[in-house]
Amino acid sequence: MDVSEEFLKDLIKPRSAIFLEMEQYAKENHVPIMQLMGMDSLLHLLSLQKPKSILELGTAIGYSSMRMASKLESASIVTIERDVDKATLAKQYIERANLQNRIEVIIGDALEVEADQFGQKKFDAIFIDAAKGQYKKFFEKYAPFLHDGGVIYCDNLLLNGLSELPMNEVPRRKRTMVRNQHQFTEWLMSHEDYDTAFLPVGDGMLVSIKR
Ligand code: SAM
Repeated sequence: MDVSEEFLKDLIKPRSAIFLEMEQYAKENHVPIMQLMGMDSLLHLLSLQKPKSILELGTAIGYSSMRMASKLESASIVTIERDVDKATLAKQYIERANLQNRIEVIIGDALEVEADQFGQKKFDAIFIDAAKGQYKKFFEKYAPFLHDGGVIYCDNLLLNGLSELPMNEVPRRKRTMVRNQHQFTEWLMSHEDYDTAFLPVGDGMLVSIKR
């Protein structure tokens, strides 16, 4: 039986028109939204976990936050994006899908926004999908806002194949990013407060359950 990625992609449940439109927009405008198989796996894990509140770092045009909100009908999502144009487009798509009461877009650099605004609020799930190479900083800043038993999902650990290359074959300007992602993976997989698995789906995902 052929179980190639192309074959599996055809088996993923059909998406609504707005998601197909966003996928097309992302393709034409080089916006790196989540890969289909990675997205499908994340939604599947989330539907097992059933979080009521999700924090996402890296909104882009709102694709993953809208897909999470559509799949998890009782979840509310806060998502942070530093690129004003992308965040503005995300807000437009979110309103078109009538999800503005469940998805809040915060415009700003996730490493700079005041986390105090969350007050005592804690999230059931945190999804990190922002600047590659900075994941440890994101993790350390936002992990205190995760409930015990909550889950942190981190995407892009395979770096579109770069992470599997010997370092001398990685373009020089990308080496620090690759090293940082390697170190982050090592650090998180041996972190005693989290039970972490690496899932080689999509662009590679770390799933960490807070003990
Ligand atoms: N999660 C989105 C999806 O699948 O639809 C894709 C996010 S894209 C991979 C990464 C986004 O993170 C970019 O839009 C980028 O501008 C944003 N980003 C990168 N570093 C950030 C930071 N420090 N704070 C906020 N946003 C950031």
